[in-house]
Amino acid sequence: MDWIFTDALESKERLIVLSTALHGIEGYLGSGLLELFIQDYPTRMDPRTTGILLIHAINPWGMKHWKRTNPANVDLNRNFVDGDFAVMAETNPDYMKLAPYLSPRKALGSIGLEKLLFFDQTMHQLVLVGQRRLREAALMGQYRQPEGIYFGGQEVQPETRMLMDLYRSTFTGYRHIVHLDMHSGYGPRFQMTLVTSPYEKMSAAETSSRYGTPLVAAANPEDFYSMQGDMLDWEYRLVDKEFPGARIFTAGCEFGTFGNSLLAGIRSLRITIFRNQVNQHGAKDKARAWVDREYRELYLPSEAAWFEKAQADARQTFEGILDAEGFMTAGNANK
Ligand SMILES: [Zn+2]
Repeated sequence: MDWIFTDALESKERLIVLSTALHGIEGYLGSGLLELFIQDYPTRMDPRTTGILLIHAINPWGMKHWKRTNPANVDLNRNFVDGDFAVMAETNPDYMKLAPYLSPRKALGSIGLEKLLFFDQTMHQLVLVGQRRLREAALMGQYRQPEGIYFGGQEVQPETRMLMDLYRSTFTGYRHIVHLDMHSGYGPRFQMTLVTSPYEKMSAAETSSRYGTPLVAAANPEDFYSMQGDMLDWEYRLVDKEFPGARIFTAGCEFGTFGNSLLAGIRSLRITIFRNQVNQHGAKDKARAWVDREYRELYLPSEAAWFEKAQADARQTFEGILDAEGFMTAGNANK
């Protein structure tokens, strides 16, 4: 994991944090957006009062191997847990009921047949438990099955520990902190969603009008989905407990890929399950190649227009937030 930190030279008024690849495979997009940020924004901020922390490839192993998780199959964005992991194991009881469907313990067979079986089982589950419960059980994070999907771990991971220490030390003394974390895979294909924390007091509508970001979702079951062990939530708790008087705004920048229809949701759940099944239990060669391709499309679409729009959305977001939060020095702004 690499980071660059430049402290404010005179007084610690503002700190901007940008991070990528919390989910390893999403780091390729993240790298492109970080480059865009580095080229255009640091020179427009005042080094006397502004600190900058850039973190690239929070999960380098996952990035290298085109996976979301770290080597222990942990989704790091479910691993920021302060308390007891034994307590976490009691959460999301639906996951274990659905485990035979969400994480089958066998090699992936012929892809055509597997797709048919999956469709059939999914229709069955939708009738049985409903779309919302199925979605929550799959995505919320689970702490029981280490070889399952969205596994949050049974202890704090080294990457998590390192970031907790990094945030604690770099946040110290700053009055105003903004952290944007780059992600892909969720939301409409050609519009970035700014996903805010349940700890954020501004509503989605207020956030959208303040920053000029068209699409804002609060991380709750209505707008997005509930999460446990979330990194950005942990930062709100850190500031609240250890840095009284400081203000923090964090958000995930989610660049959508498959879209947000029910069918798109089923498609991304399917590849999530198949990918994990191949990682855990193997596959026939042809099935593996299909899974590699499809998984990559979920996090880094091959269509050139997609990356162009992602860059435009990132620019709009950086401009809007940095401007509204007073990071841009007026004399330097070249818009
Ligand atoms: Zn992500």
